[in-house]
Amino acid sequence: MFLAHFGMAFAAKRIEPKINLGVCILASQFIDLIWPIFVLLGWESVSPLSEKVGMNVLKFDSYPFSHSLAATFFWSFLVAGVFYLVRREKRPSLVLFFLVLSHWFLDLLVHEPDLPLLDDSSIKVGFLLWRSVPITVLLELGIFFAGIWLFLTRKVKLSKGSLISFIVLIVFLLAIYASSIFGPVPPAGTSAAMLAGPALLMWLFVLWGRYLK
Ligand SMILES: [Zn+2]
Repeated sequence: MFLAHFGMAFAAKRIEPKINLGVCILASQFIDLIWPIFVLLGWESVSPLSEKVGMNVLKFDSYPFSHSLAATFFWSFLVAGVFYLVRREKRPSLVLFFLVLSHWFLDLLVHEPDLPLLDDSSIKVGFLLWRSVPITVLLELGIFFAGIWLFLTRKVKLSKGSLISFIVLIVFLLAIYASSIFGPVPPAGTSAAMLAGPALLMWLFVLWGRYLK
C-alpha cells in the first residue's frame, strides 16, 4: 500500500494535533522507510516478478525485520517510546503506536501471503487484494481522501503557504501512485538494491510533512 498510509498520517494529525505531520508520516510509513535500508544492508531481499500481478511488480522474498507482525510491534513500541521520552505526552505516544502498527494491517489486506508473523519460517499472511486493481485503487483512494478531509477540516486552519504545499504534496503522491498503476515491471534480474534503493526517497515526505504547519 502507498496512499492509504499517508491517509492514516493525515487522520492521525486530526486525532492528535500535538504531533507534527512529519512525525505522523514517519510513523505511518515507518516500516516502509526502514525496508530499503535493510535491503541495502543485505538483511532483507526483494526481486522483480516476471509479470505484473494486479498492482504488484515485486516479490518480497524476505523482510522479517521490517514487515513481520512481531517486528512491527517492536517498531511501534520504539517510535512511541522515543516520542514519550522526548515529549512526556501519553496520548500522542499512543496514537503513534497505533499509527506504526496500522501499516502492517493495511499491508495485510493487499499483499500476497508474504508478511511473516515472526520470521521467515513462521506463517506468512496476506489477503491478496492487490490482485484486483479496482479494489486496491478504491481502498487506497478511499483512505487517502478520508485522511485529507479529516486533515483539512481541522479547527486550526493552514497558512496559505502550507495549504499550497499540502496540495502540491497530494498531487505529487497521486502522480507517483498513477505511475505505479500504469508503470512496467522492472526487467528480470534487477538487483534488490536497485528495486529498493529508490524507496529511500520516501524519507523526503517526512521532511515535507515536517514543514507543514
Ligand atoms: Zn509496507
